[in-house]
Amino acid sequence: MSNYDVIIIGGGPGGYVCAIRCAQLGLKVACVEGRGKLGGTCLNVGCIPSKALLHASHSYHEATHNFAKMGLMGKTQSVDLAKMMDYKQGVVDGNTAGIEFLFKKNKVDYIQGWGKITKAGEVTVGGDVHTAKNIVIATGSEPSTLPGVELDEKIVVTSTGALELTKVPKRLVVIGAGVIGLEMGSVYARLGSEVTVIEYLNQITPGMDGEICKTFQRALKKQGFRFILGAAVQGVETTKTKAKVSYKLQKDDSENVVEADVVLVATGRKPYTGGLGLDSVGVKVSQRGVVETDHWKTNVPGIWAIGDVTSGPMLAHKAEDEGMAVAETIAGQAGHVNYDVIPGVIYTAPEVASVGKTEEALKDEGTAYKVGKFPFMGNARAKTGFAGEGFAKILACASTDRILGAHIMGPAAGELIHEVCVAMEFGASAEDLARTCHAHPTFSEAMREAALACGDGAIHA
Ligand SMILES: Cc1cc2nc3c(=O)[nH]c(=O)nc-3n(C[C@H](O)[C@H](O)[C@H](O)COP(=O)(O)OP(=O)(O)OC[C@H]3O[C@@H](n4cnc5c(N)ncnc54)[C@H](O)[C@@H]3O)c2cc1C
Repeated sequence: MSNYDVIIIGGGPGGYVCAIRCAQLGLKVACVEGRGKLGGTCLNVGCIPSKALLHASHSYHEATHNFAKMGLMGKTQSVDLAKMMDYKQGVVDGNTAGIEFLFKKNKVDYIQGWGKITKAGEVTVGGDVHTAKNIVIATGSEPSTLPGVELDEKIVVTSTGALELTKVPKRLVVIGAGVIGLEMGSVYARLGSEVTVIEYLNQITPGMDGEICKTFQRALKKQGFRFILGAAVQGVETTKTKAKVSYKLQKDDSENVVEADVVLVATGRKPYTGGLGLDSVGVKVSQRGVVETDHWKTNVPGIWAIGDVTSGPMLAHKAEDEGMAVAETIAGQAGHVNYDVIPGVIYTAPEVASVGKTEEALKDEGTAYKVGKFPFMGNARAKTGFAGEGFAKILACASTDRILGAHIMGPAAGELIHEVCVAMEFGASAEDLARTCHAHPTFSEAMREAALACGDGAIHA
C-alpha cells in the first residue's frame, strides 16, 4: 500500500499534464493508466495519429497536384498504406514513450492497470490498494454510436478503426460532419476514396461561425466530398465486404440508401467512467454520463474531475489546462482556466480555426460588433504555396474595438489563431493587433490585415 498527495486516474492529456504539474509543485503523485501506454485517446487513437495521417496524405496531395507546377518532375507517387500506418505508429510510439520519460524525470509514479475508487481517498488497481488525499478522475471519453448501427471496426468503424484501415476504401461513408469525420474523410479522399458525408443537421461543423461553415463546405466539395445534409441515418446493413447505409431526408421524409466499402461513425464521443466505482462512492454523474463538477471539484470532497469526462469541449488542450489548474488548486495556488479563449482547429487543407464568439452568438446576445475580413488571395506567402483559398475574420466590439472572436479558413490557420488568443487574453483591441508590425511575407500578415479591416481598411484587399 502506498500513500500519495494525489492519485490521477487516466494518463491522457488531462491526467498526465496534471501529474507532471503536481510533481513540479512538490506533491507526491501517481498516475494510473489501464491501456498499457500513456497519452490517452489523444496520443494513441486521436489527435496525434490522425494528424500523422493528415500530414502524410497532404504530402501525397502536394506531390501529385502541386509539385509539377513548381518544376519538380519525377516518377508518380503511389500509396503504400501499410507503410503509412507504420509511420503513423512510429509517431505515436515516440510520443507515448516521451510521456513515460517525463514521468521519470518528474518522479511521477506510473501505476499500470485499471483503477477503481473503492472509497474517498482510496484507489484499487489490480488488487493493490493506494491511498491519497486527492483523487483526480481523468478517464476521458469513448466514441458514441447510433441506434441501428453496429460497429465491427472493419467495415463499420469508429475513428479508432479508421486510423487502422488496411486498404483505402473505394467508397467511404462518414456519418457525422464534425471535426473527426471531416479530418478522417480528408485523409481517405486524398488517398483516393469517394467520400460521402451524411449529417443530421443542415450544416457541417455545427457550432462554428456560419460563414466559415459555408465556405469550408464549398472547399471540401471542390476536393470531391459529397454531402447529404438534413438526413437521419436509420441503420447500417453489412455483408462480408460492404455496407448499405439507409437514411431519411428531413425535407421530404424520403428513405434513401448509399453503399459503402467502409462506414465511419463519427457522431461524437461520450464520457468514459466504466468500472470506476463512481456509484459506490456517490460521485454525481449527469444523465449523459458527464461527471458533474464545480471548479473541477466533484460533490465528494477530495475527488476532482477534468477533461473529456467532464463538461465543455472535448479537446486535448482544454483537458491539459484543467489538469494544470487542478494541480495548482490542490497545491494551494489559484488554478484558472479561461473558457472564453479555447481555440478549436480542424486540421484539413485548408485548415479551419476559431476562438471566441461567432457572429451568430454575438447577434443572439445583442452585442454590436464589427467585422474585419481579409482573403488569403491577398497574402503573398499563401499564393507561393497555392493556398490562397479562404479568409481570416476578426470580430471586434463596435464601441470599444476589443477583439471578441476570430475565425480563419486558410493556410496554417491552427497556428495563426494563437495570435488572437494571446491578444484576447490581454484584452487587446483590433487596433492593437493592427498596429503590431508583422514580418513579411508571412501568413500572419493576413491577421494584421483582418485587424486593419476592423478600422480604416486592409491594405492588400
Ligand atoms: C480521432 C480523434 C482526433 C482528435 N483530434 C484532436 C485534435 O486534433 N485536437 C484536440 O484538441 N483534440 C482532439 N481529439 C480529442 C482529444 O483526443 C481528447 O479531447 C483528449 O484526449 C481528452 O483528454 P483526457 O485526458 O480527458 O482523456 P483521454 O485522452 O481519453 O484519456 C483518458 C485515459 O484514461 C484511461 N482510463 C479510463 N478509465 C481508466 C481507469 N479506470 N483506470 C485507468 N485508466 C483509465 C484511458 O485508457 C485513457 O488512456 C481527438 C479525438 C479523436 C478520437
